Amino acid sequence: MKKHIPAVLFLLLAAGVWWLSLAPRRHQVPVTQGEKPRVVASGYVPYTLARQIAGDRADVAMLLPANAEPHSFEPTPGALVNVKNADIFVYVSDRIEPWAKDVLSAAGKNTAVVQAAQYAAASDDPHVWMDFQNAKKIARAIAFALEQKDPNHKTAYEQNLQAFEQEMDALDQSFQTGLASCQSREVVHVGHLAFRNLTDRYGLSLSALAGSSHDGENSVRQLAELIKFIKKNHIRAIFTEETLSPRLSAAVAAETGVEVLPLYTVEHVSKKDFDQGVTYGELMRRNLESLRRGLSCQA
Ligand SMILES: [Zn+2]
Repeated sequence: MKKHIPAVLFLLLAAGVWWLSLAPRRHQVPVTQGEKPRVVASGYVPYTLARQIAGDRADVAMLLPANAEPHSFEPTPGALVNVKNADIFVYVSDRIEPWAKDVLSAAGKNTAVVQAAQYAAASDDPHVWMDFQNAKKIARAIAFALEQKDPNHKTAYEQNLQAFEQEMDALDQSFQTGLASCQSREVVHVGHLAFRNLTDRYGLSLSALAGSSHDGENSVRQLAELIKFIKKNHIRAIFTEETLSPRLSAAVAAETGVEVLPLYTVEHVSKKDFDQGVTYGELMRRNLESLRRGLSCQA
């Protein structure tokens, strides 16, 4: 009897190895010939990147409705069904989307999951896409997932990825030269802390009034300190997020006479920009324009 135990163990082990080797591959099962991969993105960052890489070769949907706040969203039962039926689900991270773990549990056995932040360089600020090198890495991860699901169109995905990477390198260069020589390097942001990766990369200082969530309450004392800071440092413009209430920035502007300019987090998109399919690159070009104007940068 005893000598059978190793044989049983061996069989169990072999079965385990077989199962393990099979499990990840189920996520890589390609779509049926002639069908488009169904991509579900948590929010606008993975959505717009997936659309740019896929072109019209995949059906890309977004869970977060346009205009909705990404950090405190609550997924609907419909969202869970979408993820269950998706070939690819892309989200940024649990830090950006604390609700993603609920959605993940609904992923189907053929759903390949891409956690974008995993491919970005480590940073204290979870808004990792605010760095063009990270955006490239995230796009590459999405392209890889698409190629696994739809190997027949690998060349098209690779071409779109290359074009995206070139766009990112050009943007990086524009930010380097465009922000090299400015009268001020103080980015005073009335909004949530989403731009640390961007300001760090181009040698700018960032003071943000609110915390890391979109609807953090600001104390009267914080507001008074900000106004004092603006006056003391002769700040000419402040930045805010288009999708936030203008109440606070308007109050600061009324008190100090500063101009209010928009900065786009990309994670939060207006209905108008969503409907027009405004890309990540386009929103970042608008950011550069705002920064150059607000900081009085030379040509
Ligand atoms: Zn955010």
